[in-house]
Amino acid sequence: MSIKDKLAIYAQVLEEEPMGKHTTYHVGGDVDYYIYPNNGTSLMRIINILESENIPFFIMGRGSNILFSDKPFHGAIINLDRTMNDFYIEEDGTVIAQAGCSIINLSVQAMKNNLTGLEWASGIPGSVGGALYMNAGAYKSNMEAIVEEVCVLKNHSIVWMKAEDLDFGYRHSIFQTHKDWVILACKLHLELGKYEDIADLMDSRRARRMASQPLDKPCAGSVFRNPEQMPAWKLIDEMGFRGFQIGGAKVSEKHSNFIVNENNTASASDIRDLIDLIRRQAKEKYGIHLITEVEQLNW
Ligand SMILES: Cc1cc2nc3c(=O)[nH]c(=O)nc-3n(C[C@H](O)[C@H](O)[C@H](O)COP(=O)(O)OP(=O)(O)OC[C@H]3O[C@@H](n4cnc5c(N)ncnc54)[C@H](O)[C@@H]3O)c2cc1C
Repeated sequence: MSIKDKLAIYAQVLEEEPMGKHTTYHVGGDVDYYIYPNNGTSLMRIINILESENIPFFIMGRGSNILFSDKPFHGAIINLDRTMNDFYIEEDGTVIAQAGCSIINLSVQAMKNNLTGLEWASGIPGSVGGALYMNAGAYKSNMEAIVEEVCVLKNHSIVWMKAEDLDFGYRHSIFQTHKDWVILACKLHLELGKYEDIADLMDSRRARRMASQPLDKPCAGSVFRNPEQMPAWKLIDEMGFRGFQIGGAKVSEKHSNFIVNENNTASASDIRDLIDLIRRQAKEKYGIHLITEVEQLNW
């Protein structure tokens, strides 16, 4: 039996799948197997199969924070968005969400249930798993503020980990230092609020994003974390990079901490070259060490 046939017992499997179809930058080489497990049990068996065949793998959410190289990846990407995306909302504000849930959809559902605390997430095009991994946040809030526990598949066992054990920090969580752990679900706590207030806040945040971010172009949100000295966008502006282009990769005219894939003509290498150039100049001219927020995979 071929590996694909074996995996297909437990999942929908795409072979030689271009990663450009699964990342918001619209770049990335082909991956041998792109896998949508049927459910949690299938996921565990799939990991066993990949490990026994020595096939490297990554878990991916919606690809909205990933710069995947142009090279082929002789391994597997496991994606939970299609099949492990259920969520449950209790009256007291307890929310149980599987990792594959869209965080935007979850914030809308929270609003419909008069629950406040997720308004900041209504413009972040990621999954619950990706948001936990990144401790995604905006407008002075983040996942850490609402997470109580996370259900994790680690070392072949399923455990619920308490928020205080997840090493949350600015765009940081324990999952970044344990890349073999798989986030399966989480328990959040939201507060009861007034529907109109929640809806108004989400509307105003959406308007602010539309006005300040290049949402009409392929991108992956903020490229760099803000250094202590000043916001990353300001530093990039001061260095004169706004609008600067390498190949099809361009520092957005609208928001200089965003790099966009201009007319879908960028390669992953163009984007990486631009990132490296900005980092080099920040170090040379300002002595500032810029750290990327975007994750670089398969380089
Ligand atoms: C237009 C735009 C605006 C954005 N605005 C913001 C913003 O305001 N604030 C912000 O914080 N981010 C923002 N982002 C970045 C991005 O959306 C977030 O970081 C998001 O949380 C990433 O989720 P994802 O599902 O796309 O993760 P991916 O990009 O698919 O993955 C990111 C990392 O998470 C890991 N991961 C994903 N799922 C799992 C899982 N189940 N188990 C283990 N590891 C997992 C992956 O392996 C990878 O290392 C923006 C992006 C875009 C394109």
